[in-house]
Amino acid sequence: MPSIGKPGSLKLSNRKAILNMLRNSGVLSVAELSQKAKLSKTTILKIFNYYVKEGLVLVAGKGESTDEGGKKPIMYEFNKRGGFVFACHIFPDALYSVITDLDSSILSSRNTAIKENEGLNSVIENIVQSFNSLVNEENIPKNKIIGIAIGAHGITDYNNGVIIHSPHFQSWGENVEFKNILKEKLNSDIPIFIDNQIRFQVFAEKVKGTARDKKNIIVIEGGAGLVAGIIVKDEIKRGAHNLAGEIGHMIINPNSDETCACGVKGCFESMVTTRRLLRIAGESKEKYPDSLIFKNSGRNDISIGDIFRASNQGDGLGKKIMDDAAGWYAIGLSNLVLTYDPDIIILHGIFIKAGDYFIKRLRERISNVSLVHVNMDTRIEYSKFGSEVGAIGAAAYVTSEYFK
Ligand SMILES: [Zn+2]
Repeated sequence: MPSIGKPGSLKLSNRKAILNMLRNSGVLSVAELSQKAKLSKTTILKIFNYYVKEGLVLVAGKGESTDEGGKKPIMYEFNKRGGFVFACHIFPDALYSVITDLDSSILSSRNTAIKENEGLNSVIENIVQSFNSLVNEENIPKNKIIGIAIGAHGITDYNNGVIIHSPHFQSWGENVEFKNILKEKLNSDIPIFIDNQIRFQVFAEKVKGTARDKKNIIVIEGGAGLVAGIIVKDEIKRGAHNLAGEIGHMIINPNSDETCACGVKGCFESMVTTRRLLRIAGESKEKYPDSLIFKNSGRNDISIGDIFRASNQGDGLGKKIMDDAAGWYAIGLSNLVLTYDPDIIILHGIFIKAGDYFIKRLRERISNVSLVHVNMDTRIEYSKFGSEVGAIGAAAYVTSEYFK
């Protein structure tokens, strides 16, 4: 642990560094933290007293006395409930809002259904309502909210809080000044952060998920679309034009007849979209009438879950479709492995329900495609989070910015 300043200096950066040490270590005494931070006990005590007053540090009782005997030291701990975060994940069909403590644990949540391509004003109004009702429900003074984070779909300009293009909300038009509009409606100075939801999702894995001890992390969310969240050396990658992670439009099969939503043929997304897998299943019904995929459903009723389930039950058509998807995923992910060399790739979205067959095939295929002599078995995992991941990551991001 490097020394963080001369004893006696009570600069803000010193104070924050001490608070972060306490935040990351649980319960400590003044002497313990003084040793850790290489600052005098007097300085540490001053800082503790300052934060006790601020409500961010709590006195946690008495510790054990030292070997030399003497008084039992007073112990201090970070107060997780010294502040709160409001986060909202905008899904194409719902708004999922949460209030969390400073450890990004959800205290209260609210799910509001929205219609397809719901208007901008209505979405903003819904977010404001969720904010007010959750804050009231938890009885939180507004000055204790340290920040607000909104996870959006599409191309998002984090620095300016602008949603440049949102494929699910075409009626909003381009370059929506979402942050400014929300700020005005909330009529408050609470800092607001807006980013593509996938960037909050990858942050959630780093702070509270499977990638906790990792520095280089890629999260892939596949479903109807395909997008990646990328952390390199602990930093979220956004790129010069906020396009970093739009991997769905990497061309991986130029000879394909599959036209992507973007109008180009052979995009990664168009090869693995659930729409294509369902279409292939439907087209194969005549040839594979006894497939388990159709056992309980007519052609129009099959879901992606039917295909996942059939592949895990050893069904021929189910395995064929998932082999095809694993093959295209392997090509796309190999390109990412060779570009970023991540410690881990974590799958999000509907594919986390694909089960053992898909991930086994994907790991095998990546090992074959990427020519990388590393054990990919340990590097590709399904996320352990559910649909709350975006909101948790957004809240964790606010907290991490606040204590930076
Ligand atoms: Zn495309």
